[in-house]
Amino acid sequence: MNSYRGDKRRNTYKKKSGKSKAGNKSGSGKWSGKGILKNRYVLISIAVLIILTIILGVRSCLTGGEYHVDVDASQPELDVQLLDVNPYSRPGISTDNITGVVVHYTANPGSSAQDNRDYFNGLQYSQATQASSNFIVGLEGEIIQCVPTWEVAYASNERNSDTVSIEVCHPDESGKFTQESYSSLVQLTAWLCVKFGLTEDDVIRHYDVTGKNCPKYFVEDEDAWAEFKENVRKAIDKTQ
Ligand SMILES: [Zn+2]
Repeated sequence: MNSYRGDKRRNTYKKKSGKSKAGNKSGSGKWSGKGILKNRYVLISIAVLIILTIILGVRSCLTGGEYHVDVDASQPELDVQLLDVNPYSRPGISTDNITGVVVHYTANPGSSAQDNRDYFNGLQYSQATQASSNFIVGLEGEIIQCVPTWEVAYASNERNSDTVSIEVCHPDESGKFTQESYSSLVQLTAWLCVKFGLTEDDVIRHYDVTGKNCPKYFVEDEDAWAEFKENVRKAIDKTQ
């Protein structure tokens, strides 16, 4: 908009000075022809500006995030359903100093936070494997806490004892999170960062620990991962 105004002003100035010149020389006919030509340039410039604005707008929509996030780092609502202490999902071991937050996806499309929590708790009976997570973010953005943050959960292999883990539910095989899950994940992660004196740089993927394709969406799309961490930073900044 500024450059448009500038052009207009310049044009008016030239017109004024042109008038006196035209009067002195060969009449106004020649001059008005030039004026039309200049008007065309102005119109073309405006058209180019409009097209550029549209292109940039569309680009920012595509790269500026598919998710709308408007959260701070305050404590999100937590549905605390601690697992029974048992060797398969809640060993009852105290963590060391927390130095990171690890993000996971459930790899079980369509399953709810409650399904996953109940699966973890059921491992004490099925004894199928050792697995759990401190938190699970559900498809509607609900958050279930399964293991206290000062206790080890079985999620992130060798980083189990110095990190807090978050499993995130996802509707389909792509591993992409719903808007509600994403928003809750940003707030939960930001809150944990503030709680443990961490920054967005201390937030990692399961992939960063073991190379596992987890969380799938953030491993396969590095831009989406960078954008997620940026959203966590913004949420932290809103609170501090
Ligand atoms: Zn994982």
